[in-house]
Amino acid sequence: MTIRTKLILWYSGLLAFIIVVFGGTVFGLLRWTLVSTIDQSLSDAAAQVVENSRAVPIGEFGSPNSVRVDLPPLTVFGLLGVYVQVWDIAGEQPRLAAASGDEDYLLTALDGEHLTHPTLSRADVIWNEQEMRVLTYPVNLADGSILAVVQTGSALETVNQAIDRLLTVLMLAMSVAIIGSVVVGLLLADRALQPVDDIIHAAAKITETDDLGTRLPWNGPMDELGRLTAVFNRMMTRLEHLFGVQQRFVADVSHELRTPLTAIRGNLDLIQRYGVDDESIEAISSEVGRMTRMVDDLLMLARAEYGGIHLELDPLDLDVVVASVYREAKAIVHARGGKLTVVMGRFEPVRINGNADRIKQLMLNLVGNAIKFTPEGGEIKLSLSEEGAFAVMRVSDSGIGIRAEDIPHIFERFFQAEGSRARTESDTGTGLGLAICRWITEAHRGTIKVDSIVGKGTTFTIAIPKMEHTASTKANIRLPVTPTHDGLPSAGGA
Ligand code: ADP
Repeated sequence: MTIRTKLILWYSGLLAFIIVVFGGTVFGLLRWTLVSTIDQSLSDAAAQVVENSRAVPIGEFGSPNSVRVDLPPLTVFGLLGVYVQVWDIAGEQPRLAAASGDEDYLLTALDGEHLTHPTLSRADVIWNEQEMRVLTYPVNLADGSILAVVQTGSALETVNQAIDRLLTVLMLAMSVAIIGSVVVGLLLADRALQPVDDIIHAAAKITETDDLGTRLPWNGPMDELGRLTAVFNRMMTRLEHLFGVQQRFVADVSHELRTPLTAIRGNLDLIQRYGVDDESIEAISSEVGRMTRMVDDLLMLARAEYGGIHLELDPLDLDVVVASVYREAKAIVHARGGKLTVVMGRFEPVRINGNADRIKQLMLNLVGNAIKFTPEGGEIKLSLSEEGAFAVMRVSDSGIGIRAEDIPHIFERFFQAEGSRARTESDTGTGLGLAICRWITEAHRGTIKVDSIVGKGTTFTIAIPKMEHTASTKANIRLPVTPTHDGLPSAGGA
């Protein structure tokens, strides 16, 4: 059953119930009032008959043995529409002593049943083929014996007519009200539920056409349905975005995996043709390594994006991490022939709430890029300082720099500035490093930014909120330092 049908059935039923209860009450009250008025006039008539009668004792002087009753004229009651009968019940059978008229039908008792067992009573009876209200009024002597019975009656015709008319009006009103309520209800329900229908159609259309761009128009007020529409539209926007991300992701991954795969196939062809040679094996191994790293990075980014990675943040002395990155940077540069200088700039102990492994990964990514994009003889500088409420880490180089138009894109997945690929083919870049750096920074509620001048160098600055009210107690970091001109713990050339 639809909501519309349920709604209409409910409130039409409720309306009918209210009308029936209301009508029944009015009906009962009206009948009671009219019958009470008739009862009153019957009582008045009986009282008048009794008050205007006289009982005259008959018999021998001093010992009367019977009573003669002198009645007032009763015909006057007939004129008022009230039938009056006075019954003598001294004998075995009640005897009609007087009536308000001399028609034949007046010879029959108004209420025969109550006449034989006379008590003060009122009853609805059928008399002379009409419905009557009859009062039976016993007239008692002083000793309690019944002298006579007065019965007064009045036709209920007018009462029944009034009640019938009321009933007709009530039935009519009820039918009109219920039909009206169903019609109006249908219209209202149609109007109110139209947006729900729209949502159903839109959802069905999306399923049929796979078009996530569908939105629902809404010009109404922001009631429940307005909010439902807005939430539906927001949900569609989010779905569209996520779907777009997914599609781009698949396209990017396929594209990026093709390069190492092509290289591997090329080298395998060479081996097939000319036999195994060290150079091809080396190239294949390097490409496989690059693919492995790429897949690892991608997995991490994907899990991070869908909230699958929960970073444990503990109190962390950043100086310890930066010092360790500094040492590794020197080692890397040394391993590659030591044609770059790695120095430490400002170095202040700062404590944050952080994850040591991830911060180190972030710094090593930046240092790795700096080494990659800095020509021989250049300098790479690390620094750590406390600036206001933030711990600020910087990685600067005197390398090739990044073009202004590339800067907004370098944190995107797979972005590599023009020339970077060619230049770094042997260096196995994947274009994922900075995307990971940004995720790690944001997971620490921090920001990462880049300043760069082409041909002069690049500086990455990471600011992470420091831990409140705490100063690092571990200032005693051992660095393989040589004092520099600015007096800060710093390192000489590698
Ligand atoms: P990858 O280094 O693997 O190519 P990244 O995401 O780490 O990927 O960097 C994206 C791109 O940003 C690089 O390809 C490069 O063009 C540019 N880039 C990053 N760091 C530097 C830097 N220190 N100097 C110049 N260009 C850089």
